[in-house]
Amino acid sequence: MTAVISDRVPPAVTLRIGGERRTKGASVFNHVSPVTGSVDAEIPLAGVADIDDAVAAAQEGFEIWRRTPGTERARKLFALAELIDANHEEFMRLGMLDNGTAVTTMVTMVPAASSWVRYYAGWADKVPQGRVNTTVMSEGELGYTLRQPYGVIGVIITWNAPLMSLCMKIPAALAAGNSVVVKPSEMTPFSAMLFADLAAQAGIPDGVINVVPGDAEAGSALVGHPDVKLITFTGGPITARKITAQCAETFKPVLLELGGKSANLIFDDANLDEAIPHAAFSSVAAMAGQGCAFPTRVLAQRGVYDQVVSGIAQAAKSYVVGDPFESTTTLGPVVNEAAVERITGMIDRAHLEGARLVAGGSRLGGELKNGCFISPTVFADVSPDSELAQVEVFGPVLAIIPFDTEEEAVAIANSTGYGLSGRIWTNETRRAMRVVEQMITGEVMVNDAKQASVLRPFGGVGHSGLGREGGVEGLEEFLWTKSVAFGGGPR
Ligand code: NAD
Repeated sequence: MTAVISDRVPPAVTLRIGGERRTKGASVFNHVSPVTGSVDAEIPLAGVADIDDAVAAAQEGFEIWRRTPGTERARKLFALAELIDANHEEFMRLGMLDNGTAVTTMVTMVPAASSWVRYYAGWADKVPQGRVNTTVMSEGELGYTLRQPYGVIGVIITWNAPLMSLCMKIPAALAAGNSVVVKPSEMTPFSAMLFADLAAQAGIPDGVINVVPGDAEAGSALVGHPDVKLITFTGGPITARKITAQCAETFKPVLLELGGKSANLIFDDANLDEAIPHAAFSSVAAMAGQGCAFPTRVLAQRGVYDQVVSGIAQAAKSYVVGDPFESTTTLGPVVNEAAVERITGMIDRAHLEGARLVAGGSRLGGELKNGCFISPTVFADVSPDSELAQVEVFGPVLAIIPFDTEEEAVAIANSTGYGLSGRIWTNETRRAMRVVEQMITGEVMVNDAKQASVLRPFGGVGHSGLGREGGVEGLEEFLWTKSVAFGGGPR
């Protein structure tokens, strides 16, 4: 049973720089509720001077944090995980206010987020310390490697799952001994406020986590700052190109978590009772389709194609679109008017490209007309090279494509420039293993395996990004390697 949350007043947003809370930045952003279409908060936005101050505070924080014993860092991160759990309802509320994610989704997202904090807390006193790679050689040298934190990490995140994004990046960076300056999206700053408060309550020293809501100018100032040693970014390709180009000037390392057009392969022998509801919910219901790794292309084998199409269409029509605070709502709005325009534009062009609409297909009116609500939309008979099959929509729109053979399915699955995630439904283990090996994606799930576990590294290839979050790989991204040799042979 989902808790009843009724308070719709957003918290005050401030810049968190060291121990200071700044109520004013360089400008103000009007936060518009995607549910009502009205301004519900004024957000102070960091300017270049605020970014400079935040980086200076993070530099001081780093000097403290890097000398804090791993066991102590672990203790504080474990305390943060506990506090996130203890504030479960407030994080659900803030998630709904940030971007309209439905309460029925937020209820599972908060524990998922705290599991990332807890996992990296466990690594803080076990950071891989490098290897002794040479014992006393004939020359008498002793060699070993040190794994060291970079220093100040610039964390730039997007708006679709703010708490989750914070937890996928910050705990790993901190467990490795770094400090961070976090720039949440100007559109979704609320969850980051509580996260910063709880980090302080958990005993993480001032300056180790600095939070500066801001726009592109603030983001660019953070990326270009000489004392920021690595950028970890989650967002879209246009921004990713700009950030990468800026980082190239000083050869600053950059981790990129970008978009996807993930394929969901349903073979004739699949368990359709599981595959159909999963395929529908994970593409057009969860987070109103605004998830980077969601399987937004279903590739269904000809023998089950009609059944898959009608089953998914039926499921999509059964979802309740509406107020995210209502416990009966399956999906809330998309993030803003610009998103509505982009998504409805793609729906219009899908019709023109000959795809067959089997569910949804429009913005919702009536009581929902002032908000950004789009009905869960499913197109069948989508051509694999059409826009809808090739370009990320980032909204509740699914493309279903038929295939005949395994080879054809793999070719279609690999035909976009993206490579984030993939899923296969089959009861034949050998086929699953063959297809897994051929899919050019950062992860592949088979049948009903869970997505996005902190235990496994997550990230893309190709246009989906660089680097990994999750697993020990996610920790190692925040460490650099120093090779050391001691002379000392007989003289
Ligand atoms: P975006 O790229 O426009 O913005 C993301 C962040 O970058 C925001 O904080 C923004 O203020 C900042 N920014 C904008 N211009 C900047 C600049 N020049 N320099 C530095 N920072 C700048 O975000 P978007 O495109 O609306 O986000 C949606 C995308 O995010 C989708 O493509 C989605 O797939 C992707 N995404 C990926 C993951 C993942 O983990 N792989 C997760 C969620 C979302």
